Amino acid sequence: MAESNPQTFLDPGFRAEVDKRSGTPVSACFHCIKCTNGCPISYAMDIVPNRLMRMIQLGLRHRVLSSSTIWICASCETCTTRCPNDIDVARVMDSLRQMSLKAGTVAEPQIPMFHEAFLAVVKSTGRVHELEMLVRYKLKSGNLLSDVRLGWEMFKRGRLKLIPDNIARLHEVRRIFEEEERNSGA
Ligand code: SF4
Ligand code: SF4
Repeated sequence: MAESNPQTFLDPGFRAEVDKRSGTPVSACFHCIKCTNGCPISYAMDIVPNRLMRMIQLGLRHRVLSSSTIWICASCETCTTRCPNDIDVARVMDSLRQMSLKAGTVAEPQIPMFHEAFLAVVKSTGRVHELEMLVRYKLKSGNLLSDVRLGWEMFKRGRLKLIPDNIARLHEVRRIFEEEERNSGA
Protein backbone atom coordinates (compact mmCIF):
# COMPACT_ATOMS: atom_id res chain seq x y z
CA MET A 1 0.00 0.00 0.00
CA ALA A 2 1.44 3.38 -1.02
CA GLU A 3 0.85 4.95 2.36
CA SER A 4 4.25 6.63 2.55
CA ASN A 5 3.02 10.01 1.34
CA PRO A 6 -0.05 11.07 3.35
CA GLN A 7 -0.66 13.95 0.91
CA THR A 8 -1.51 11.57 -1.92
CA PHE A 9 -2.73 8.50 -0.05
CA LEU A 10 -6.31 7.64 -1.04
CA ASP A 11 -8.42 6.42 1.87
CA PRO A 12 -11.50 4.66 0.44
CA GLY A 13 -13.40 4.99 3.73
CA PHE A 14 -12.94 8.72 4.09
CA ARG A 15 -16.00 9.88 2.11
CA ALA A 16 -18.36 7.53 3.97
CA GLU A 17 -16.95 8.78 7.27
CA VAL A 18 -17.56 12.42 6.29
CA ASP A 19 -21.08 11.52 5.04
CA LYS A 20 -21.89 9.87 8.35
CA ARG A 21 -20.49 12.61 10.56
CA SER A 22 -22.03 15.48 8.61
CA GLY A 23 -25.30 13.71 7.79
CA THR A 24 -25.02 14.99 4.21
CA PRO A 25 -24.12 12.99 1.07
CA VAL A 26 -20.86 14.33 -0.32
CA SER A 27 -21.03 11.71 -3.08
CA ALA A 28 -23.98 13.63 -4.61
CA CYS A 29 -21.73 16.61 -5.46
CA PHE A 30 -21.43 17.02 -9.25
CA HIS A 31 -19.07 20.02 -9.17
CA CYS A 32 -21.28 22.77 -10.43
CA ILE A 33 -19.07 25.22 -8.43
CA LYS A 34 -22.06 27.18 -7.13
CA CYS A 35 -20.76 26.81 -3.56
CA THR A 36 -17.37 28.26 -4.45
CA ASN A 37 -18.82 31.06 -6.57
CA GLY A 38 -21.00 32.18 -3.66
CA CYS A 39 -18.42 31.78 -0.89
CA PRO A 40 -17.41 35.25 0.37
CA ILE A 41 -13.95 34.12 1.47
CA SER A 42 -12.97 31.51 -1.09
CA TYR A 43 -10.22 33.91 -2.22
CA ALA A 44 -8.40 33.26 1.09
CA MET A 45 -8.74 29.45 1.01
CA ASP A 46 -5.99 27.08 -0.01
CA ILE A 47 -8.60 24.66 -1.45
CA VAL A 48 -11.91 26.15 -2.64
CA PRO A 49 -15.11 24.39 -1.42
CA ASN A 50 -16.01 22.46 -4.59
CA ARG A 51 -12.44 21.17 -4.90
CA LEU A 52 -12.51 20.16 -1.25
CA MET A 53 -15.66 18.17 -1.94
CA ARG A 54 -13.90 16.43 -4.82
CA MET A 55 -10.95 15.58 -2.60
CA ILE A 56 -13.29 14.05 -0.04
CA GLN A 57 -14.84 11.92 -2.79
CA LEU A 58 -11.37 10.77 -3.81
CA GLY A 59 -10.38 9.93 -0.23
CA LEU A 60 -7.58 12.46 0.19
CA ARG A 61 -7.95 12.40 3.96
CA HIS A 62 -4.74 14.09 4.98
CA ARG A 63 -4.89 16.90 2.43
CA VAL A 64 -8.45 17.72 3.42
CA LEU A 65 -7.93 17.50 7.18
CA SER A 66 -4.72 19.56 7.04
CA SER A 67 -6.16 22.28 4.81
CA SER A 68 -6.52 25.90 5.95
CA THR A 69 -9.89 26.07 4.23
CA ILE A 70 -11.79 24.21 6.94
CA TRP A 71 -10.61 26.77 9.54
CA ILE A 72 -11.00 29.83 7.36
CA CYS A 73 -14.63 28.91 6.55
CA ALA A 74 -16.87 31.33 8.46
CA SER A 75 -19.89 28.98 8.62
CA CYS A 76 -22.03 31.57 6.84
CA GLU A 77 -23.95 28.77 5.06
CA THR A 78 -24.10 30.56 1.70
CA CYS A 79 -22.76 27.40 0.05
CA THR A 80 -25.41 25.26 1.74
CA THR A 81 -28.16 27.56 0.52
CA ARG A 82 -26.85 27.59 -3.04
CA CYS A 83 -26.19 23.87 -3.52
CA PRO A 84 -28.66 22.40 -6.05
CA ASN A 85 -28.11 18.95 -4.52
CA ASP A 86 -29.05 19.99 -0.98
CA ILE A 87 -25.56 19.22 0.26
CA ASP A 88 -24.95 20.99 3.56
CA VAL A 89 -21.42 22.14 2.73
CA ALA A 90 -21.15 24.27 5.88
CA ARG A 91 -21.95 21.21 7.99
CA VAL A 92 -19.34 19.21 6.12
CA MET A 93 -16.81 21.93 7.00
CA ASP A 94 -17.81 21.69 10.64
CA SER A 95 -17.41 17.90 10.64
CA LEU A 96 -14.01 18.24 8.99
CA ARG A 97 -12.90 20.63 11.74
CA GLN A 98 -13.86 18.07 14.37
CA MET A 99 -12.02 15.34 12.48
CA SER A 100 -8.96 17.55 12.04
CA LEU A 101 -8.84 18.31 15.77
CA LYS A 102 -9.08 14.62 16.55
CA ALA A 103 -6.38 13.73 14.01
CA GLY A 104 -4.07 16.51 15.22
CA THR A 105 -3.68 17.99 11.72
CA VAL A 106 -4.93 21.52 12.41
CA ALA A 107 -3.41 23.93 9.87
CA GLU A 108 -4.49 27.10 11.67
CA PRO A 109 -4.09 26.29 15.40
CA GLN A 110 -4.80 29.87 16.55
CA ILE A 111 -8.41 29.57 15.27
CA PRO A 112 -9.49 26.66 17.53
CA MET A 113 -7.59 28.36 20.38
CA PHE A 114 -9.67 31.49 19.88
CA HIS A 115 -12.82 29.38 19.65
CA GLU A 116 -11.95 27.61 22.91
CA ALA A 117 -11.28 30.93 24.65
CA PHE A 118 -14.64 32.24 23.42
CA LEU A 119 -16.54 29.20 24.73
CA ALA A 120 -14.70 29.20 28.07
CA VAL A 121 -15.73 32.82 28.66
CA VAL A 122 -19.36 32.20 27.71
CA LYS A 123 -19.40 29.23 30.08
CA SER A 124 -17.91 31.29 32.90
CA THR A 125 -19.86 34.55 32.50
CA GLY A 126 -22.87 33.61 30.37
CA ARG A 127 -21.91 36.06 27.63
CA VAL A 128 -18.88 37.37 25.79
CA HIS A 129 -16.50 39.37 27.97
CA GLU A 130 -13.92 40.58 25.49
CA LEU A 131 -11.12 41.32 27.97
CA GLU A 132 -11.22 37.89 29.59
CA MET A 133 -11.47 36.25 26.18
CA LEU A 134 -8.39 38.11 24.93
CA VAL A 135 -6.38 37.24 28.05
CA ARG A 136 -7.31 33.56 27.76
CA TYR A 137 -6.47 33.51 24.06
CA LYS A 138 -3.15 35.30 24.53
CA LEU A 139 -2.07 32.97 27.34
CA LYS A 140 -3.00 29.90 25.33
CA SER A 141 -1.37 31.02 22.09
CA GLY A 142 1.73 32.48 23.76
CA ASN A 143 1.31 35.44 21.44
CA LEU A 144 1.29 37.95 24.29
CA LEU A 145 2.52 41.18 22.76
CA SER A 146 0.75 41.48 19.42
CA ASP A 147 -2.20 43.90 19.23
CA VAL A 148 -1.23 45.61 22.52
CA ARG A 149 -1.72 49.06 21.02
CA LEU A 150 -5.09 48.09 19.55
CA GLY A 151 -6.16 46.62 22.91
CA TRP A 152 -5.16 49.82 24.71
CA GLU A 153 -7.10 51.96 22.23
CA MET A 154 -10.18 49.77 22.71
CA PHE A 155 -9.80 50.00 26.48
CA LYS A 156 -9.53 53.80 26.36
CA ARG A 157 -12.74 53.97 24.32
CA GLY A 158 -14.60 51.77 26.77
CA ARG A 159 -14.81 48.80 24.37
CA LEU A 160 -13.05 46.44 26.80
CA LYS A 161 -14.83 46.29 30.14
CA LEU A 162 -12.85 45.23 33.21
CA ILE A 163 -15.80 43.48 34.88
CA PRO A 164 -18.25 41.31 32.92
CA ASP A 165 -21.98 42.14 33.03
CA ASN A 166 -24.10 39.70 35.00
CA ILE A 167 -26.76 37.67 33.28
CA ALA A 168 -29.91 36.52 35.02
CA ARG A 169 -29.73 32.75 34.46
CA LEU A 170 -26.06 31.88 34.31
CA HIS A 171 -26.77 28.45 35.82
CA GLU A 172 -28.82 27.56 32.73
CA VAL A 173 -25.96 28.46 30.38
CA ARG A 174 -23.60 26.32 32.44
CA ARG A 175 -26.07 23.45 32.42
CA ILE A 176 -26.14 23.55 28.58
CA PHE A 177 -22.34 23.38 28.49
CA GLU A 178 -22.23 20.51 30.97
CA GLU A 179 -24.82 18.58 29.00
CA GLU A 180 -22.89 19.10 25.79
CA GLU A 181 -19.64 18.02 27.46
CA ARG A 182 -21.32 14.86 28.74
CA ASN A 183 -22.72 14.08 25.26
CA SER A 184 -19.36 14.59 23.58
CA GLY A 185 -17.52 12.59 26.26
CA ALA A 186 -15.30 15.61 27.08
S1 SF4 B 1 -22.86 23.58 -4.96
FE1 SF4 B 1 -23.21 21.48 -4.24
S2 SF4 B 1 -23.11 20.20 -6.11
FE2 SF4 B 1 -22.25 22.20 -6.63
S3 SF4 B 1 -20.03 21.93 -6.30
FE3 SF4 B 1 -20.87 22.75 -4.42
S4 SF4 B 1 -21.35 20.97 -3.14
FE4 SF4 B 1 -21.07 20.26 -5.24
S1 SF4 C 1 -20.01 28.31 5.00
FE1 SF4 C 1 -17.82 28.45 4.67
S2 SF4 C 1 -17.44 27.47 2.69
FE2 SF4 C 1 -19.63 27.92 2.83
S3 SF4 C 1 -19.87 29.90 1.83
FE3 SF4 C 1 -19.64 30.31 4.02
S4 SF4 C 1 -17.45 30.63 4.33
FE4 SF4 C 1 -17.69 29.68 2.30
